[in-house]
Amino acid sequence: MLTKLLQRETCAVCRSCCQFSSYDIWSTPVLNEETRPKVQALLPDAQFLQKGENAWVFRVEHFDAEDNFTCPLLDPARGCMLGEEKPFSCSIWPIQIMEVEGRQVITLSPLCNAVLNLPFAEILQFVHSELAETIFAYAGTHPEEILPYDGVSPVLLWK
Ligand code: SF4
Repeated sequence: MLTKLLQRETCAVCRSCCQFSSYDIWSTPVLNEETRPKVQALLPDAQFLQKGENAWVFRVEHFDAEDNFTCPLLDPARGCMLGEEKPFSCSIWPIQIMEVEGRQVITLSPLCNAVLNLPFAEILQFVHSELAETIFAYAGTHPEEILPYDGVSPVLLWK
């Protein structure tokens, strides 16, 4: 969804969005009723926690020596095992949908160096013209995708 901002090759060598430290473990991808059966077939031993009526996240039991949890769907050689069917939050990252004092906001994660190096006006224009409607519509039907505001991600747009 973000190929106008991010080159696939850039993401292929980075993959930081598929790793979560103990500080941002709350932002692991949400698996919905379509995604979860596929994940279960790919990873029969995976454990989940319910996040909403039809939403789950991976149960995280261990962090590595660098305090990271790597998404179990990340194949070191080929990238995300779900390919184009990856969870919504992954398909829009580093753009995020959050909530501030009861209002939805679209924010930019400060953790993606590739996007942070782009002119801010370019990011803003892209989000306003090509993403905002889709994100707010998806959040309307999948409220479990809305993250609490983290206090550090710049707000790009208020609903
Ligand atoms: S679901 Fe795929 S894109 Fe999303 S964090 Fe896991 S490996 Fe990365």
